[in-house]
Amino acid sequence: MKIQTKAVHAGDRKRHCIAIPVTTPIYTASSYIYDDIEQLDRVFGREMEGDSYARYENPTNRALEELLTALESGAGALATSSGMLAIQYALQAALLDRRKHVVAANALYGATIRMLMSMFEPLGVETTWVDICDEQAVEKAIRERKPGCVLMETISNPLLRVGPMDHIASLCNESGTALVVDNTFATPMMVRPLELGANIVVHSVTKYLAGHGDVLGGAIISDPGHVETVRTLSRTGGPLLGPFESYLTMRGIKTFPLRFERQCRNACEIAQWLATRPEIERVYFPADPNHPDAANIHRLFPEKLHGAMTSFELKGADRAGVFAFMDRLKLVVRATSLGDVHTMTLYPAMSSHRDLSPKQRERAGIRDNLIRLSVGIEDTADVIADIEQALRG
Ligand SMILES: *Cc1c(COP(=O)(O)O)cnc(C)c1O
Repeated sequence: MKIQTKAVHAGDRKRHCIAIPVTTPIYTASSYIYDDIEQLDRVFGREMEGDSYARYENPTNRALEELLTALESGAGALATSSGMLAIQYALQAALLDRRKHVVAANALYGATIRMLMSMFEPLGVETTWVDICDEQAVEKAIRERKPGCVLMETISNPLLRVGPMDHIASLCNESGTALVVDNTFATPMMVRPLELGANIVVHSVTKYLAGHGDVLGGAIISDPGHVETVRTLSRTGGPLLGPFESYLTMRGIKTFPLRFERQCRNACEIAQWLATRPEIERVYFPADPNHPDAANIHRLFPEKLHGAMTSFELKGADRAGVFAFMDRLKLVVRATSLGDVHTMTLYPAMSSHRDLSPKQRERAGIRDNLIRLSVGIEDTADVIADIEQALRG
């Protein structure tokens, strides 16, 4: 055999040995071979289970998808290469056989708002924006607009509002509307929307699930009615997460419950400490007994888990004052994203809400002195000491 032939044939395509690896290997193959072409024909025709082409399925992804399905009590899952792609395909699946109208929470993640306005609207999908915490407004919008789907986040960014997801699920089920929930901030540790009657759950696995700041990825977990639709769209469009990222995400999820419990506990401590500081005007945290959505929080979330995000307003600070405070932080990481093992901070007026005019920001309750904190797994004494020295200036 010549070297050019060896280079593409030697070593590869070995049958697995009889032992089972304790963790799922990274399968990078783009296609698969069978003993005879008859079998491949049956796999292509989906009469026989098996892998054929990496845009259709991949064994590493399948392991992660099984894990995600179990975490969210779904009927099936799809791992995608970003959280935004998960939202795009979830909306397409929800609207495929339904009226092309979305009722969406007006406090959605910035890129999700842009996706509805600049990708879906030009294709004829209209959006009605509602305050998702106002149950009567949601009911009225569903009755009047007859949307194909309702899109909401479990916990909003950065003001951490919590809508009545269970009640909205009932309204949706009664009217044949699909409920799509972005559960990134709450995670399946706090609530599993499919158990409450939602139809499709999406995640940015970039955040808590992968959890280490080294993966960009998303997930769609569906009820039995939407699994096939999502899979069929995915086979055509190919939004799949790469096998390396699937492996990293699976590895991350193994410690996700431990990390998340610790992060929630740390966030609670830090939010309570922030509330005692004279330099701070206001703290947003779901465990606050005066939270406007306390009833929903009490009903939907476990007693000790209130999420690991907190936001606060720096008394009397303008944009320059906030920047100076953030630049004085030495331990807390000044970066976009959230849910990582390290504590991170971000200025919403500069990032997620950058495209809004000051007036629109004011209306959305995002003031120029508002800072968002994603709490990590460090010892809180170190994080508090860092924030304290930055507050002192
Ligand atoms: C980050 C995020 C997204 C987008 O996910 P990517 O992985 O960045 O594409 C969507 N929704 C929420 C709530 C997020 O925090």
